[in-house]
Amino acid sequence: MRAVQVIRAAPDPADALRVVELPTPRPGPGQVLIEVEASAVCRTDLQIAQGDLPPHRQPVVPGHQVVGRVAAVGPDTDDSLLGSRVGLVWLAGTCGACRFCRDGRENLCRSAVFTGYDVDGGWATHVTARSGFVHRLPADGDAQALAPLLCGGVIGYRSLRRAGIGPESAGQRLGLYGFGASASLAIQVARHWAVRCLVVTRSQEEADRARLLGAEWAGTYEEELPERLDAAITFAPAGWVVTRALRDLDRGGTVAINAIHLDHIPAIDYADLWWERSIRSVANVTRADVAEFLGLVGPAGITTASEALPLDRAAHALQRLLAGDVTGAFVLVP
Ligand SMILES: [Zn+2]
Ligand SMILES: [Zn+2]
Repeated sequence: MRAVQVIRAAPDPADALRVVELPTPRPGPGQVLIEVEASAVCRTDLQIAQGDLPPHRQPVVPGHQVVGRVAAVGPDTDDSLLGSRVGLVWLAGTCGACRFCRDGRENLCRSAVFTGYDVDGGWATHVTARSGFVHRLPADGDAQALAPLLCGGVIGYRSLRRAGIGPESAGQRLGLYGFGASASLAIQVARHWAVRCLVVTRSQEEADRARLLGAEWAGTYEEELPERLDAAITFAPAGWVVTRALRDLDRGGTVAINAIHLDHIPAIDYADLWWERSIRSVANVTRADVAEFLGLVGPAGITTASEALPLDRAAHALQRLLAGDVTGAFVLVP
């Protein structure tokens, strides 16, 4: 099979990646072999290539937003998956036994492993995965359109839920701070639930895009919101944005932080937290989040712009992501 590997962390993605021919893996017990149709590029892949995330394994095949078909199943594996269209996400496995796994918070499992980081991911013609961690997808959907939803969309969905937003939240006021890939998917879910969305972002172009996706108000960080918020999600990886969002909350409101890495959060005035406001982080996703989000993709008409590139252009995709030269998600097609 053909694959792209991160062989070493390097500032220039072209030095970090190489395209290789490897033996096609055989699925082990409990595993499936997936023939990849499309695999999207996420900022986390760039962080793995550049070493911002400490390497767990090298070389490793990145890619944790994978759409493909089950081509083979391993020994002692449910063969009803054979031939099915499936997706892979960041969560590749958990212990299944710890208190977090047992009470529905497998995203907090200390033994969790991640696709394209601890185990080989989807920037390849083939990938193996644990059968319990593949997600069934519609057989007829467009693989290139589906793949970029599998990270930003799912984490955006979990962020909404952690901010206290759900189908029962019609009419509530939600603030989104930063408007990249994940926010532009989260807003579509929120609008489907008839939540009122206010977007604060760094450029007029992003504010315009937010209005097109249903924001009733969108402006830059220099502007004040027209009213207070019931909930907020910060997508920008900057600590001061969290304190800004906190100041914009109404009594009882929640700020959910959607960021793996965040610089220092500045000191807050207790008056801004008083009246039962809260700040929460969002860490990874559960399989239930993936299933719930995928169930909304059709009914809510969730879409995102994408640009297809062949597998051997992976370094080029990361270089453009680094340079901010992105109009939609990059999707690698083997
Ligand atoms: Zn991702
Ligand atoms: Zn566990």
